[in-house]
Amino acid sequence: MKMLKTILKQFFDKPATTTFPYTPLENFEGTRGHLVFDPSKCTSCMMCMKRCPSQAITVQRAEKIWTLDRFRCVMCGNCVDVCKFDVLSMEREYAKSATPTERGVETYEITYVKPERPKKETAE
Ligand code: SF4
Ligand code: SF4
Repeated sequence: MKMLKTILKQFFDKPATTTFPYTPLENFEGTRGHLVFDPSKCTSCMMCMKRCPSQAITVQRAEKIWTLDRFRCVMCGNCVDVCKFDVLSMEREYAKSATPTERGVETYEITYVKPERPKKETAE
């Protein structure tokens, strides 16, 4: 009888699974979500790469390329804390849309341009 009750309950209950990423996932208080990178502010200082415990970040300074391997990232937030230039942040949403990437690796071209120093005025 107990088993029959369970079976009947399954017929009328909503499915336990979700259709993410087609329907957005609900996030909870304290959710770290995912890492967001702003290529226009990155100075290629490489601190995030040095302090990442899972080697998820690669910075190619000469090529101006910043790479994140999402499968390696454990969302610890270390890189956000060490970046002095406000380039990295954590967004609470898991992902806005499912973006197909090569094995979870996202590559960004760094667009930051160092501002020119104002020229010293020469005394005449
Ligand atoms: S993201 Fe921040 S810490 Fe990482 S290389 Fe760019 S400026 Fe440096
Ligand atoms: S959140 Fe943590 S694991 Fe992920 S890239 Fe940053 S330092 Fe690495």
